[in-house]
Amino acid sequence: MSPLHVFARATSVVLLLTTLMARAHAQEPVKFVSKPPNCQNTSGPFDRWLQGVRQEALKRGIHQPTLTAALDGLTEDRDIIRIDRGQSFFAQSFLDFQAKLATSNRVSSGKEKMRQHAAIFQREEAQFGVPAAVITAFWALESDFGSGMGKRPVMRSLATLAWDCRRGEMFREELFAALQIVDRGDLMPSEMISSWAGELGQTQMLPTLYLKYAVDFDGDGKRNLFKSAPDIIGSTGNFIKSLGWTRGQPWLVEVRVPSKFSWEKAGLDIKQPTAAWAKQGITLANGQPLAADQLEASLVLLQGRGGPAFLAYPNFKVFTEWNQSLNYAVTAAYLATRIEGAPPLNRGPAPATPLPPEAIKDLQTVLIRAGHSLAEADGKLGYATRAAIRQAQLTAGLPADGYPSLDLLDRLRAKR
Ligand code: CA
Repeated sequence: MSPLHVFARATSVVLLLTTLMARAHAQEPVKFVSKPPNCQNTSGPFDRWLQGVRQEALKRGIHQPTLTAALDGLTEDRDIIRIDRGQSFFAQSFLDFQAKLATSNRVSSGKEKMRQHAAIFQREEAQFGVPAAVITAFWALESDFGSGMGKRPVMRSLATLAWDCRRGEMFREELFAALQIVDRGDLMPSEMISSWAGELGQTQMLPTLYLKYAVDFDGDGKRNLFKSAPDIIGSTGNFIKSLGWTRGQPWLVEVRVPSKFSWEKAGLDIKQPTAAWAKQGITLANGQPLAADQLEASLVLLQGRGGPAFLAYPNFKVFTEWNQSLNYAVTAAYLATRIEGAPPLNRGPAPATPLPPEAIKDLQTVLIRAGHSLAEADGKLGYATRAAIRQAQLTAGLPADGYPSLDLLDRLRAKR
């Protein structure tokens, strides 16, 4: 889950909308634009196309024995194209999502991993500054420490996705990166087995990122993120540092918000010093006071004002860059705090139910008619939609938490 300066992965947060396989959209460098799922493949027959890949690889300095080992006898995997084009989006609440992913099992196995590799985590933190619990949370979510890695040969997955039209340009680069990884001796094609999306190792890095950020942390001369725990820990720390992690700062803390509150201040785009949030009555989830410091944070509400609440610090950006689904990002960040000892989640007094995409589309249509500046009614809950909802709530005299509800949709319809 690994993402981009090149990967300035927009924190264009698609609230509530998460893919079943949240990982599949992570880490895509923004310079490539995905084509629609009904695009026509113009690459020609796979084996002829692969000949062109071999020629370009040789020009890029990749050696013939690598190409023989990695590409001989390769065929396309039609199954992957079907999966890639058929991914469905659906509305899932944060509470349901995190209950499936941030399990108590992962909390305890995460703690166990930290004990088991304490010395390596210490060396990683000295070098890269990323806390053990943060690396461990991603490691748990991505592969359950290597026990859930998928069964498909990576070279075949990458070649298939590179041959196909939907994200061909991006995956052609990933395929060359994977060939370079083999060429420099880190991995053999036969040990590169993963999920269909072509990511490598127990923290699921795209090959271009592996090439850039993987480090040999056990000193055997190879960067092996499939088998070596030290390599996984060091490399994931190095990658997270590259996303802008600041040593010694928090990333996320669960909070309690008073029932009377200026809800329009919630949102990742609004930042205030922690001390200012404390003055407005926000406390830690257990009622204890927040640290009265000047570190800026945003108030994140995951299911409206009646649901769970968090303060997100600058380091939280790393989680949204790892995966652009806000449900995933908060789940991973929260799991890391749990592994560090935070108590189980407070569900909030009255968590709102997410609207399905069609209802969000209806709401957007009504907002556009009412003069709010939204580009289109796409059924996705991005920043612009949330801002418009906030504005509409304020105008209607409602608590302006920017969370879409059927109640708001009904009121706006009634006004027309
Ligand atoms: Ca190694």
